[in-house]
Amino acid sequence: MSFWSLSNYSTTFPVCQRCCCGDETINHLLFKCQFAEVVWRCINTTMGRVLIFTDNLEDNIKMLINIQQQQHQPYIVQYLPFWLMWRIWKSRNGFIFRKINRHPATEATKAEQDIKEWFDNTRNATSSNQEQNPRNGPITRRRQTKRWNPPPVGWLKCNFDSGYVEGKTYTRSGWIIRDSNGTVIRSGASKLQQAHSVLQAEALGFLNALQEVWNQGLRYVWFKGDNLELINLINKQQDHQRILPLLFDIRYWMAKLPHSSLGHVTREENKAADKLSHFATEMFSQSQSFHVLSRWLTEYL
Ligand SMILES: [Zn+2]
Repeated sequence: MSFWSLSNYSTTFPVCQRCCCGDETINHLLFKCQFAEVVWRCINTTMGRVLIFTDNLEDNIKMLINIQQQQHQPYIVQYLPFWLMWRIWKSRNGFIFRKINRHPATEATKAEQDIKEWFDNTRNATSSNQEQNPRNGPITRRRQTKRWNPPPVGWLKCNFDSGYVEGKTYTRSGWIIRDSNGTVIRSGASKLQQAHSVLQAEALGFLNALQEVWNQGLRYVWFKGDNLELINLINKQQDHQRILPLLFDIRYWMAKLPHSSLGHVTREENKAADKLSHFATEMFSQSQSFHVLSRWLTEYL
């Protein structure tokens, strides 16, 4: 459901389930509810403390659009209100339909993470062709885009990535194997078991990639992930109490691939695996693997 489906939101308003202090109008839900007010105050800019919302939805939206149009403002000030509204709406649905009750500060942080991710993606996309960024207009220097690097001849590279969403019943995960020419040998996406942290999600993704590689009879593989914490834990043979059984499984499978290694790449270099992990959310099945490169994936290689 998109945020803009709010415009079709019911015209008969039930009592707000969060605060029970008023009808759940759109204005109440987004701006005037006690929960929403705390979310707005928790954002990590001074804006959250100076915004004063009225009982008029239109006035409130107009005020936020005015801020968005102030080009001198940092992008986070310009766009955060809209991500925050989206996050409050999602939080409301999670609260009502799935009984998820997060702290307002967590919702504010999530909105800030969302916008940073959006900005990074937008900047990456625009810097490579239009040399624009949404905050300052034209940029003077071409941003160096770190691209995927091939492994040496005779080796394969397997990029893997996972996505963690708090409360989600599964972990999305993707992997892609390429040779020294950059040819995609195989790729896939899976819905893995539920994770309770980013680290656990990444560890599940790596374990899945190890098993896929093993099952396909591939042995000389460089695994590449973008979670430095996991990679350090594994390469330095360290333990982590919360994912101990997973680390045990990972080491078991790594021992079956003695010629392989694990290294770190930036998120930018890991884009294809990230996109595959997003694809998992659209799948009806638990797991899919592809012999033929999907067309939508080519722009992320
Ligand atoms: Zn309320």
